[in-house]
Amino acid sequence: MEQLIRVLRDKGFKITPQRRAVITALAKCGKFPTAQRIWDYVRTITPDVSFDTIYRNLSLLVELGIVSEIHTKGREGNVFEIVETDHHHHLICVSCGTTQCLDFCPVSHGDLAKAEAGGFKITSHSLEFYGYCRECASAG
Ligand SMILES: [Zn+2]
Ligand SMILES: [Zn+2]
Ligand SMILES: [Zn+2]
Repeated sequence: MEQLIRVLRDKGFKITPQRRAVITALAKCGKFPTAQRIWDYVRTITPDVSFDTIYRNLSLLVELGIVSEIHTKGREGNVFEIVETDHHHHLICVSCGTTQCLDFCPVSHGDLAKAEAGGFKITSHSLEFYGYCRECASAG
């Protein structure tokens, strides 16, 4: 958590109480909190904060690459994760919304080279996999 704060500071961002609270929430809310869940947590620290402020701060952390936003397509909205490991992808259950980290990247260098054939220089990519988790798949 202190590391995230350091990254923000290094990039010239002020560490406002809301920003600190958002980062605390990300660290404390368990894996894959929604923006709503982060907002609920932050309001226990700084009660006057608006959902917009939370969302703006989350978007900033995502833009800086220190938090990833996972598009769950679920009723409760996207979930967030502090980026701790190398880039990785997620498996998302479209039935119950469970998200799991996939610890390898299924994109090959060959595929990337093919995608760059037209002269486009790829610097990053994001990819999410949708389907049914083991529980939902076996429930039929
Ligand atoms: Zn499921
Ligand atoms: Zn992950
Ligand atoms: Zn990848």
